[in-house]
Amino acid sequence: EEKVRDLRRTLGVKVTGPSPPKPVTSFGHFGFDEPLLKAVRKAEYTQPTPIQAQAVPTALSGRDIIGIAKTGSGKTAAFIWPLLMHLMDQKELQPGDGPIGLILAPTRELSLQIYNEAKKFGKVYNLNVVCCYGGGSKWEQSKALEQGAEIVVATPGRMIDMVKMKATNLKRVTFLVLDEADRMFHMGFEPQVRSICNHVRPDRQTLLFSATFKKRIERLARDVLTDPVRIVQGDLN
Ligand code: ADP
Ligand code: MG
Repeated sequence: EEKVRDLRRTLGVKVTGPSPPKPVTSFGHFGFDEPLLKAVRKAEYTQPTPIQAQAVPTALSGRDIIGIAKTGSGKTAAFIWPLLMHLMDQKELQPGDGPIGLILAPTRELSLQIYNEAKKFGKVYNLNVVCCYGGGSKWEQSKALEQGAEIVVATPGRMIDMVKMKATNLKRVTFLVLDEADRMFHMGFEPQVRSICNHVRPDRQTLLFSATFKKRIERLARDVLTDPVRIVQGDLN
């Protein structure tokens, strides 16, 4: 127990919530399968970042997460890796199947970054990843969704458009990520984010990431997460 406290202090992470798992500071101890370990080696990452060290074992244990850490701390992989492991136990994709992993992000640029990260680490598994954002072609995005996809990365407004157009559905979503929740709120996406959360099955796993943790985000967390583990890296602002 004291060792775990020291380790967290060294990593600069504060953890609250019911019985969080202990941090894991080497890739070999995450419990990843060989293809994923290989992809991580190929990316030339030598060690998990502090937020990854605490968030990855927490997500792999099936828990909901509130992850607060500043830009550049490696949050994307902290949810992509557990999502890939989550996908590995699922049955084969049929055309028209909606996503199992749904990631919401505030902008086209950020969605594309996450999409590329998901492709980078998911390549070994031959997954279908689709990215949908405002300003892109609705026709192309809906065509891509209609082929079926295990992972969808989307801006909230466009995701709702795609569901309304029946290009996809939220029935299979069991792993939901709200990335940069504070920025999504700044951009006025709170109603869309809440609507999507309300249409995803309640027994899903939900991960919420944000650079800041103000009242509105706290309220969202209370409404959409179940017994979350809260991980704060660095100083809260
Ligand atoms: P955040 O979402 O917290 O702003 P990102 O996920 O975009 O951060 O990661 C920032 C950069 O760090 C990216 O270029 C990413 O490839 C790199 N990165 C992520 N994890 C590691 C790691 N364990 N070791 C080295 N680099 C990493
Ligand atoms: Mg990020």
